[in-house]
Amino acid sequence: MVLLKSSFVCGKSVWINFLRRYTARPIKPRKAKAEGSTTEHFVDFKKVQVLGGRGGNGCISFHSEPRKEFGGPDGGNGGHGGHVIITCTRNKNSLGHLKSVIKAESGINGRNSDRHGKNAEHFYNEVPIGTVVRDEEGKELSSLDCEREYYIAARGGAGGKGNKNFASSEDTTPRYAEEGAPGEDRVLYLELKTMAHAGLIGFPNAGKSTLLRAISRARPKVAPYPFTTLHPHVGIVEYDDFEQVAVADIPGLIPDAHKNRGLGISFLRHIERCVCLLFVIDLSVDEPWMQLDHLKFELEQYKAGLSERPHAVIGNKMDLEISKKNFIELQKRTDMPLFPVSAEKRLNLKPLLMHLRKMYDINNVEGDYG
Ligand code: GDP
Ligand code: MG
Repeated sequence: MVLLKSSFVCGKSVWINFLRRYTARPIKPRKAKAEGSTTEHFVDFKKVQVLGGRGGNGCISFHSEPRKEFGGPDGGNGGHGGHVIITCTRNKNSLGHLKSVIKAESGINGRNSDRHGKNAEHFYNEVPIGTVVRDEEGKELSSLDCEREYYIAARGGAGGKGNKNFASSEDTTPRYAEEGAPGEDRVLYLELKTMAHAGLIGFPNAGKSTLLRAISRARPKVAPYPFTTLHPHVGIVEYDDFEQVAVADIPGLIPDAHKNRGLGISFLRHIERCVCLLFVIDLSVDEPWMQLDHLKFELEQYKAGLSERPHAVIGNKMDLEISKKNFIELQKRTDMPLFPVSAEKRLNLKPLLMHLRKMYDINNVEGDYG
């Protein structure tokens, strides 16, 4: 009692410690996990700032040893900063993984006793085949088209020289050394041209996204209004011999798209390197053959000769009665390979996929496409 009383009198801290130890502390609630969507969007354009690593500084130091009075300068050189290098690989198909600021490591400073700093490792960043690198003015700096091709985006700074390098007969004890040079600092625009072997081309609501869902595991949004799909989607069609053909749903093509109507021609660049084109025609509307002419016209406006690529015409929505009549009419008006399908009901897709494979086998040039 006496003890307690004295502790009560003599210090608040004793009580505080007692309470801390023997009273139940509330459990801190854990921070909730982010609720954002985990869907990774396909990124085909990215602005990045690239920073080469800084060179390490040279060292100012003089040799010291017992009974050796004037040992002379022995400051080592700094290591070189690392480069930021962009390399191209088949294993990537989007630019989404790149950070907006990419910085390479700096070189290590030089030290006494002639110890040079270590050069920093170069920082390699993988991008898909078909990535085009442009500067801020839009000038093309490099086009990475083959596996392992690379582009040095930002060079690292050179390491500074240590004071040993500056020793001469006139100045045997230089008290200065070089600073490491800063690395390059640039802003680059990376743009993905190659996306797929085949491109689905059609006006809104033709059923491009539905067809891509039917033939691959891609899940683009489908709805009966235009501009449902705002980003290009790529799906992989897998064949029995494990060959994979990438098919892209290119959204936004409408009459006068080349005059920048709607989403404009921003996605047409993806068609540029597609080996074959699949024109998707909605057979349930009046005069569907007009769609084909409009689509070809839009492609030609974007780039002459584009509509001459190996192609096939897909007459979609064959499950509807009106489509059957329209299909017969369309057949009379075109001599292009024609495939009547129903993307929604997944009818008659096999002949189309066989033809796609044939076009792919004949035209795909190994190494040019990702
Ligand atoms: P996109 O704009 O070309 O991508 O067209 P969508 O794939 O979003 O399809 C537009 C609408 O057409 C959707 O309501 C689909 O359900 C419908 N649709 C697509 N394919 C078919 C089909 O084969 N038959 C029928 N009846 N409707 C289809
Ligand atoms: Mg769509």
